[in-house]
Amino acid sequence: MELAQRVKEIKPSPTLAVDAKAKALQAQGVDVIGFGAGEPDFDTPDNIKEAAIKAIKAGFTKYTPAGGTEELKKAVCQKLKKDNGLDYEPAEILISCGAKHSLYNICQALFQKGDEVIIPAPYWVSYPDMVMLAEATPVILKTTEETGFRITAKQLEQAITPKTKALILNSPSNPTGASYTKEGLMALAQVVLKKGITVISDEIYEKLMYDNVSFFSIASLDPKLKAQLLVVNGVSKSYSMTGWRIGYAAGPRPVITAMTNIQSQSTSNPTSISQKASLEALSGPQDFIPIMLKEFDKRRTYMVDRLNAMPGVSCYKPTGAFYAFPNCAGVFGRKAGTTTITDSTSLAQHLLESVNVAVVPGVAFGADENIRLSYATSFANIEKGLDRIQKAIEGLT
Ligand SMILES: *Cc1c(COP(=O)(O)O)cnc(C)c1O
Repeated sequence: MELAQRVKEIKPSPTLAVDAKAKALQAQGVDVIGFGAGEPDFDTPDNIKEAAIKAIKAGFTKYTPAGGTEELKKAVCQKLKKDNGLDYEPAEILISCGAKHSLYNICQALFQKGDEVIIPAPYWVSYPDMVMLAEATPVILKTTEETGFRITAKQLEQAITPKTKALILNSPSNPTGASYTKEGLMALAQVVLKKGITVISDEIYEKLMYDNVSFFSIASLDPKLKAQLLVVNGVSKSYSMTGWRIGYAAGPRPVITAMTNIQSQSTSNPTSISQKASLEALSGPQDFIPIMLKEFDKRRTYMVDRLNAMPGVSCYKPTGAFYAFPNCAGVFGRKAGTTTITDSTSLAQHLLESVNVAVVPGVAFGADENIRLSYATSFANIEKGLDRIQKAIEGLT
């Protein structure tokens, strides 16, 4: 059977692929330490689970409106007002099956052949593929540790052409953990306003920030931006609810309506029960977040310090999310037996095969000198896994 052209260039999500490979080894009885996880290792808080159980028992188990329930949309509006100072109405909100689904719907609603979409690298793996599935062209802007993995206003302005439709921003970032300062975002916002492009702001790691660094949404900087901007967020990362599949988008009403129509013809509504759980997540007690954050912070410092102490490895200290993204170019050219480590893929393969540690090669994020390690795993695992990585790296000749 002949596949459609549209899907021929699409790759399966490499982060999920590494996870699957590590899990397959584990199933064979191999003691694998997995740093591939893209989700918090905490359980979903009890009050959220209880809300879901209550919804099931009350028979809240039927279709809801395709774009989500009015009560959850209202809760999202309140969240955006309280946390980000943004004014949105329920008609400007879409609830979808995860933030990923909101991003996908945005791409389908806005992009078409001939459009260029600017994506700063290192980028979240799904952005370029989602843009390509909408038949548009991803334009990658490279950033490095030296600039804190942030694009500058000048870099953005130079990349904009008459074909540029949008910029996808992700702060704090997966995979780098870097976040933009208010000043940095203001400079980008000026270019966005001047050039009239759309900004898609993926704020899924908003609540996971360290070192007293504050979160700023680019949306909050200038009310004029509202007509050109979509905010994407969700409950997966903040409330350890990845499996519940609830995310949301806020934006101009015609775009939200178009996204709702796409959703109504594809998935229909996000799970009714998960919507009730998410309502509790957004409007119930928030004390789970600082507890999770404190533990992540401890692991972050330990992991980054250990990585920086390894020969040939240098690791930027992330200010958000739950990933370390060390640059390993210093070990490229060294040998493991007869094979030479030449890039992020051969390094990741070497770590998996020689010491059974799973990491994600940076090439998946558009950064072939780096690997991504998630610290959303126990401290004991982190210690053990880093001991193994150190041994593997020190063993290179
Ligand atoms: C995890 C993640 C998402 C998607 O989260 P959902 O589970 O689909 O809500 C979106 N963007 C980034 C950068 C992520 O890391």
